[in-house]
Amino acid sequence: MHITHGETGWIEVVCGPMFSGKSEELIRRLRRAQIARQPLQIFKPRIDDRYDATKIVSHSSQTIEATIVSTSQEIAEAIRSDTRVVGIDEVQFFDKGIVELCERLAGRGIRVIVAGLDQDYTGAPFEPMPQLMTVAEYVTKALAICARCGAPAGRSQRLIGGDTRVVAVGAAESYEARCRRCHVPRIEATTGELFDDKK
Ligand code: ADP
Ligand code: ZN
Repeated sequence: MHITHGETGWIEVVCGPMFSGKSEELIRRLRRAQIARQPLQIFKPRIDDRYDATKIVSHSSQTIEATIVSTSQEIAEAIRSDTRVVGIDEVQFFDKGIVELCERLAGRGIRVIVAGLDQDYTGAPFEPMPQLMTVAEYVTKALAICARCGAPAGRSQRLIGGDTRVVAVGAAESYEARCRRCHVPRIEATTGELFDDKK
């Protein structure tokens, strides 16, 4: 990042679909800050307990220690006075207060790096990501490779039917990365078969 500063903070957003390397990129940026001995704190939401609970784990098995929290308020209360860098993974699972918190931290001179899904499994904006992208200084949109055709993939396909909750945490077998042509926003509820009205 090219801002040199005294006490200026900023917000970096890494967004994209599942398997696009958001966690890898977050871990890469945080690791560099660690190596530079910048005091940092890393958080992830409690809702995401797919993998090792106190670590961020990428699909390519890179890991970094993180503190599990349930709300943006918990992050606010955990921030130490000397912290210079704050990383948050799966930020789309936090309450709306996360936007104000990131702004407040950046306002205090902290580098805030967040990663999260910009779209839910139907392709709709995943709140509060749009707000975070708006107030961020840097937005990186990561893309995966479409599991069907190999095109750049910006969407997450849910492969299991019968569950229409926006927040349904699942591992790799429940989702795959798809391009806009191959993505099917709706899933037939009873059989679990993909309901494809584009065919
Ligand atoms: P995200 O946090 O965006 O879900 P991760 O950083 O956890 O992504 O994982 C990215 C890794 O996922 C890639 O390096 C690759 O090893 C793996 N992967 C699995 N499926 C795909 C795909 N369809 N396209 C790209 N990478 C994939
Ligand atoms: Zn495709």
